[in-house]
Amino acid sequence: MPGQLIDGKAVAKVLEAEVAAEIARLGFRPGLVAVRVGHDPASEIYVRNKARKARELGLEGTELVFPETMGEADLLAEVARLNGDDGVDGILVQLPLPKQIDARKVIDAIDPAKDVDGFHPVNVGLLHLGRPALVPCTPSGVMRLIDSTGVAIEGKRAVVIGRSDIVGKPVATLLLQRNATVTVCHSRTRDLPAVAREAEILVAAIGKARFVTAEMIRPGAVVIDVGINRVDGKLAGDVDFVAAQAIAGWITPVPGGVGPMTIAVLMSNTVRAAARRRA
Ligand code: NAP
Repeated sequence: MPGQLIDGKAVAKVLEAEVAAEIARLGFRPGLVAVRVGHDPASEIYVRNKARKARELGLEGTELVFPETMGEADLLAEVARLNGDDGVDGILVQLPLPKQIDARKVIDAIDPAKDVDGFHPVNVGLLHLGRPALVPCTPSGVMRLIDSTGVAIEGKRAVVIGRSDIVGKPVATLLLQRNATVTVCHSRTRDLPAVAREAEILVAAIGKARFVTAEMIRPGAVVIDVGINRVDGKLAGDVDFVAAQAIAGWITPVPGGVGPMTIAVLMSNTVRAAARRRA
């Protein structure tokens, strides 16, 4: 029997309904500001979608667009202004930034209480310590997708392929907090297929189309594909979906898996940041 599909759109809808209900309970519209510098086409779409979804759910969603030539000091001044604006609960600066701007400096300048991407070192540290934090959106979404299967995480062998700061590492930390036994693989891992095959929960965040083949999957595993790659004009994940589905117990498609969760969690983070800051 082929693995069951994990429907990211449906799981995201449930979270979105929770966000809308929470906003109604708060009685004010939390403010989310998405900052974009320059005209990277993918960033344009992401930022527009984030602002649109915010408004759809009852948040105050604003998109700020600055020219490609913007200097670092000007962007830092803009972040400082947003930090000081009481109507702004969440600030996200869309990456990548033009080369004259040091993204790290910009992230470090965001008020951690408004850092809805969860990239600020304070939030990264809090997450690592298991203390309340704003958690990066895609990793949070991954956890909700795993939970949607009903498969218990505690005690499971989990393997995360990829160790980036925005996906692999936080996913590994979140799985560890839920008492999985976690292995993180990367480009220097020896015999990665054998390690991956041990996974009852396998998360692929590599950025290489169809990297995870059927021989890397343990029968019945929960397979979460974070990858977004373009192959011949079409989207492909990091998992060879058709072959993998035949072996996995549960699997996310690309598109329609992790992708829809990321924006939904961003909204949820903004509402959480608003509730905490204005309590
Ligand atoms: P990244 O920063 O490029 O990290 C890729 C990771 O994969 C690195 O840790 C790298 O190992 C590892 N890797 C690369 N080649 C490998 C190989 N041959 N064997 C084993 N490990 C290998 O990428 P990312 O930002 O984490 O993103 C990963 C994927 O997720 C991309 O396709 C991205 O577009 C997608 N993504 C999707 C969403 C979403 O909303 N769905 C959000 C974010 C990212 P080293 O550390 O050793 O170099």
